[in-house]
Amino acid sequence: MKKIKQKQYSLVQLPNGSIVYITCYSYFYSKKVSTVYIQANLHGSEIIGTSILMKLLILLQKKSLPLNIVVVPQANPLAVMDYNYNGVNGRWDNCLGQNYNRIFSTNIINSVNEEKNRLKEILFSNIVDSNTRLSGWLQYLSFNADYVIDIHATGVSSIPHVFTDVCNPDTFFPLESKVIILWDKKDMYGAFDESHVFKHQKIKKTYACTWEVGAQNYLSDKLSNSLAYNLYQYLNGIGNNVVSKVDDNKKPKFLISKCTHYSSPYAGYISWIKKIGDIIKKNEPYAYIEQPWSGKKIQLKAEYSFMLIGIYGLKVIQSSQKIASIVKID
Ligand SMILES: [Zn+2]
Repeated sequence: MKKIKQKQYSLVQLPNGSIVYITCYSYFYSKKVSTVYIQANLHGSEIIGTSILMKLLILLQKKSLPLNIVVVPQANPLAVMDYNYNGVNGRWDNCLGQNYNRIFSTNIINSVNEEKNRLKEILFSNIVDSNTRLSGWLQYLSFNADYVIDIHATGVSSIPHVFTDVCNPDTFFPLESKVIILWDKKDMYGAFDESHVFKHQKIKKTYACTWEVGAQNYLSDKLSNSLAYNLYQYLNGIGNNVVSKVDDNKKPKFLISKCTHYSSPYAGYISWIKKIGDIIKKNEPYAYIEQPWSGKKIQLKAEYSFMLIGIYGLKVIQSSQKIASIVKID
């Protein structure tokens, strides 16, 4: 049985003097086995991943797996502090305007040592901003990982889905998901998962994904128990070379170029007819808009065929506002 160690890394000092830390849990098994790094809650409102990882730690404490494990259940405590009435925000840094999952270096041509030194300079400098330090710590803690899983959540409801590298589309198949979305070298936006695959691809192979597990600002003990167990089984598969039984046909794969936001052509109060996971054909109705100022109720019809991945939270919308995450179907 491996004892899980807890360690804290200082991120920033607040005006009241307190220090905000990133808390990391890990155990080292052996140099001969794979290293897995898993984090959650990079975006403040995506809290269910934190619950999944706290439960994963309990499972690993009961029975450790033949892997080196690094777990960061709350990757971005600053984002979680950005809360208001009835929910957490924390998708963007309010001072710098950056999306917290667009702050990672994705095209570094440094050698491994040069890259380690770059990260150390960031981490021990007093003049870098909090996002640079955040990206530095998370890249530093995950630096040696062979597998990287970044857990997120989308909208007020969404089907579980995985974003990963087009070169290794099946690596994360056993994780609970209804759809796999594949990105390529040309799709680099500074996301955490991308930064691992393209950083040292000539020297070290890293498998990385973003695992979208559900809705933002949502916690369910039952759901996080079930996903923690699914994650534990997945890790067991890596550690013990167990082949998982997954029916490939049930998981469609799409290129990320087909994945986009869907916008409403009208302003008003929106009610959805369709559910997440539905495939909506061109010209099929998917929602209603009610306009108190015009007295109209407008039926919204699909401009093209798509699969509904996630529905966003706003119920009163402006025209052209993003209302859903979808994949286009030809
Ligand atoms: Zn996210």
